[in-house]
Amino acid sequence: MATKILYFTVNGKPEQAEFPVDCPAQDVKDLFRSAAEAGPHDILKLYNPKGNIINISPGLEPNSPSCCYKLEVVAADRNTEPLGTFTSTSLMMCDFRLQGLEKKILMEAGETPAVVYEMKKQVDSFREKLESVEHLSWLGLFKDLSEGNHKPSPFYHKRTLRKTREECEHVRVKFLQMSSLEVSEEVRQYLKTPTFDNWQWEDAEIMVLLQVMYTDLDFTATFNIEPEVLQQFLYEVYRRYNNIPFHNFKHCFCVTQMMYGLIWLTDLRSKLDAIDLLIMLTSAVCHDLDHTGYNNAYQINARTELALRYNDISPLENHHCAVAFEILEKTENNIFRNLPMDKYKQIREGIIKCILATDMTSHNDILSKFKSILPAFHFTTKDHKDVLMMILIKVSDISNEARPMEVAEPWLDCLLQEFYNQSDVEKMEGLPVTPFMDRDKVTKPSSQTGFIRFVLLPLFIELANLFPCLEHHIIDPVRKALDYYTEMEKALEREKLNRAQCENAAKSKDTTPSTAGGHVEAGPEASRAHTPQTVVGDT
Ligand code: 5GP
Ligand code: MN
Repeated sequence: MATKILYFTVNGKPEQAEFPVDCPAQDVKDLFRSAAEAGPHDILKLYNPKGNIINISPGLEPNSPSCCYKLEVVAADRNTEPLGTFTSTSLMMCDFRLQGLEKKILMEAGETPAVVYEMKKQVDSFREKLESVEHLSWLGLFKDLSEGNHKPSPFYHKRTLRKTREECEHVRVKFLQMSSLEVSEEVRQYLKTPTFDNWQWEDAEIMVLLQVMYTDLDFTATFNIEPEVLQQFLYEVYRRYNNIPFHNFKHCFCVTQMMYGLIWLTDLRSKLDAIDLLIMLTSAVCHDLDHTGYNNAYQINARTELALRYNDISPLENHHCAVAFEILEKTENNIFRNLPMDKYKQIREGIIKCILATDMTSHNDILSKFKSILPAFHFTTKDHKDVLMMILIKVSDISNEARPMEVAEPWLDCLLQEFYNQSDVEKMEGLPVTPFMDRDKVTKPSSQTGFIRFVLLPLFIELANLFPCLEHHIIDPVRKALDYYTEMEKALEREKLNRAQCENAAKSKDTTPSTAGGHVEAGPEASRAHTPQTVVGDT
């Protein structure tokens, strides 16, 4: 068969190609492509000795090594592959190369170095993200993990929303092992103060601390609550709080612990019946059960199952309460099982009232009612007592800022994470965007200054009118937090102003003839604009 031999250079290196004279054009192109080690989307150009571009085809004139063609890759386009293929392939490649690297290092060093372990974790977490974010499903990596006929929703954290069986079992075993241990007197006392730091305790320990609260308020003895039933109840409660940034089991604990602290600080045991205290503590424990991280406005606007079930009336709070009584329906979880029917009824009525009172849309009504009864408040008047109980759970529910700054500030980060997620989803789904959750409008300090001034302080001050000792315990730290966030807000404003000035200066520099070296002096303010001090306030 007649063949042609062509001489050419590629990247300065001499090459020669041989092909049958009657072969298809594509074969010749592929031949040159492989000589240039080019990908399918790279652009190749062939030049003749005169420097003109010529077609790569079987009709090319045969030449000699001294008068050869020149082949060039003029554009290497590696991103024209579909992103889905690109991502999954690169993920697989990362995995593969890491495995190889680990094997090699293991053979030589005998153990996986921390840096390889860290890289593996990062690859895993990246994969998990790609597999769990529904709106990235077009990448072809999304795994729908929703069970049964449950309609998937675009939760960015849906993969970790509900606790897994393994996670629950692990915590249950740990809790049961620890529950027989004696909690020190020091911790028992610390648990009665609003300065308690929840971040130091893991979930199994938190369950032990909740058990201590029931014991130290004498509930176990007074209401004949068997230890196994209390443990089983607390475990079910733990299980039904979801893994979301804010409304999780740790939030349940904080609210309950604040309620516990308030009971001791105000000596409520001498003023109310034990059954009322039992109602308040248990309401706090159950008040956000199965929260999914989307508030009532979202439930109603998105017409979720909850909004439909409860006709837009406090869908979340109704749900938290229903889940609580669903847990209590099982006799092995029912901490009230040894009480007569009328007491159970009283408790049920009380818990429903308290949990429904945590819907912030009732805030003004409840606070106004409390203010109106305060001048002639009687702990023995049922109406007064009911409002007080609602006020106490409301105070506990929103009491993070009454805690030390190191405890409170991470909670704000968690809250904003949940808020921002909701507003992102609202934008994605074309729903009305909840303004105080919008990441384009709300900052850490702006979120707190308004909330503290208009919600927290007016509420806390009224409670302190009834219990003056609370001034020092919960109002002082809230005022401090207000100062802290006011300063932070001012610093952010200054920073914004500085940035705008810098931008204007840069713009005017662009439109005026340049000075020597083209340097624009932005002034001392500009150089301070991004220091940490300007963000947290110079004090
Ligand atoms: P929840 O019953 O949802 O735990 O608390 C009631 C609501 O009060 C929260 O969903 C949130 O909107 C608001 N809230 C509670 N604590 C804070 C806070 O520290 N800052 C702000 N901005 N809002 C809060
Ligand atoms: Mn809450």
